[in-house]
Amino acid sequence: MCGIVGYIGPKQAQNILLEGLSKLEYRGYDSAGLAVYNGETIGVSKSKGRLSVLEDKLKVQGLPGSLGIGHTRWATHGKPSDANSHPHVDGAGRFAVVHNGIIENYIELKEELIAKGHVFTSETDTEVIAKLLAELWDGDLVSTVKKVVSRLEGAYALGIISEYEPDKMVAVRQASPLVVGLGKEENFIASDIPAILKHTRDVHILEDGEMAVLTAEGVTLMKTDGTPVSREPMHVQWDVETAEKGGYDHFMMKEIHEQPKAIRDTLSGRVKEGLVDLTREVGLSEEEIRGIEKIHFVACGTAYHAGLVGKYVMEDLARIPVETDIASEYRYRNPIITDKTLVVVISQSGETADTLAALREAKKHGARVVAITNVVGSSVAREADDVIITWAGPEIAVASTKAYTSQLIAIYLLGLYFAKIRGTRPVEELKEIVKHLTELPGKAEEVLQTEQIVAEFARSIANHEHLFFLGRGLDYAVALEGSLKLKEISYIHSEAYAAGELKHGTLALIEENIPVIALATQQYIYDKMVSNIQEVKARGANVLGLAAEGDTELIKSVDRVIHIPKTIDLLMPVLTVIPLQLLAYYACTERGYDVDKPRNLAKSVTVE
Ligand code: GLU
Repeated sequence: MCGIVGYIGPKQAQNILLEGLSKLEYRGYDSAGLAVYNGETIGVSKSKGRLSVLEDKLKVQGLPGSLGIGHTRWATHGKPSDANSHPHVDGAGRFAVVHNGIIENYIELKEELIAKGHVFTSETDTEVIAKLLAELWDGDLVSTVKKVVSRLEGAYALGIISEYEPDKMVAVRQASPLVVGLGKEENFIASDIPAILKHTRDVHILEDGEMAVLTAEGVTLMKTDGTPVSREPMHVQWDVETAEKGGYDHFMMKEIHEQPKAIRDTLSGRVKEGLVDLTREVGLSEEEIRGIEKIHFVACGTAYHAGLVGKYVMEDLARIPVETDIASEYRYRNPIITDKTLVVVISQSGETADTLAALREAKKHGARVVAITNVVGSSVAREADDVIITWAGPEIAVASTKAYTSQLIAIYLLGLYFAKIRGTRPVEELKEIVKHLTELPGKAEEVLQTEQIVAEFARSIANHEHLFFLGRGLDYAVALEGSLKLKEISYIHSEAYAAGELKHGTLALIEENIPVIALATQQYIYDKMVSNIQEVKARGANVLGLAAEGDTELIKSVDRVIHIPKTIDLLMPVLTVIPLQLLAYYACTERGYDVDKPRNLAKSVTVE
């Protein structure tokens, strides 16, 4: 999820690697490390914390040599620590590897390798790759890497060096970005272009299932099954700032587009034989899960909105009564908590002060706490009894997007897991829902294509100071999040209403030309929602409707429609929120505000 840099050529690698990693610091990371071949052996230096900690270490003992790989880690498996930092090596130190991503089948591989006598020194998934390289070594680095890769499941960008063939570096990409930079008698690898932009603008962007073999003189591309690949390099025109944003104008847009991957990653390794298995992350016994009498979802801001979806999902699937509460309220309101209460706290950073205080309050009253967070080793992750990590990767824009959708995925996983154990839904039905869940990444790609229609609508609302979001059921929960997103970055005031509630007061505010965004994706309540839309339409509102694909009715009641790929009602929020994120984005740029750093707001709210 974080940074890789690699160098092969005539120069000393250490400083090139450190400088490259420093260009990736903006992404956030928890540890850093280098491995450099010194003419005889591979030297490794790594440490938890900032790059400067590693730099200080290297000042005492440097790593000479002109072949090397470097890494900044964003922990997914195992806390941030020196031992868990990359590069990882095999027992004899003959191979070194850096890895971004997640190896889904690492437990099986680890067991197999331990049985063969390999000794593991970290908690990471990555270490299995280093040990596998030694285990499968056949006298040829490229051929061995192919064998290793054929055993890996999951997402990985890899940089590999070996003492046996020190004239090469091998890079592999599968569902995690990696580029090869072409220099003069020197070549580079990097997870992101800014890391190597100082040295070259000619790059090969590897595609999934491809590998590159680098020497100082040249680069060969091939598929991991050996099929040769021939492609002209691309000349990068971007400046460093654009390169950091992956070619997008803002981090928020980049992160909106990263959602299919974030969803896929968060699902990875958690679906087995068509059903959800969270035994690794949730330590509750089956009996304890059956004994849960109520659940409290507790969070702030966007994460709180994920918790609102959680109420519908958990009650519907696992038939457990749920309350969703704002952490800053919950911690002071003397909630009824027993040892049969499960408290689920949600926080992207894992450092949200109010959420952390609520977690402590819940534990004090004897509740079991499950945390849903994006940051391994964060305070929330450390203090909770169980942790479900969302694998969204670092989120930089203040307005949360991919963290929210991956929080939703974590909630579905938890709901489906509990439903399986509590027997509240027939297995076949659960399998059907899981099937739809695994189709979401592809559908999220499709929704992103609504961008142009959304941008147009955003232009039409940019001069308004007030607008409304309406929805019923899960659409209401998503409407709240859409409204927050718009407020956060475009500073347009909006309110989200449960559509049936409008007539009890707020309808008085609907006047000629007021923009209304009406979500009508929930089939079970569709007709009621259409009636509510007509109530605002009759008072002159300018309505943008969101409907499921294939809906030909809604257009008769609204001014424009955005169609969302069809999935089951329960899963719709993951897709419906995406056009709303885009709407906030375009309303913001149209009004000329700072997308990534909205006024008065901080990314991680570590104060009360
Ligand atoms: N899964 C690996 C780990 O936890 C790689 C993390 C990363 O992408 O930085 O160490």
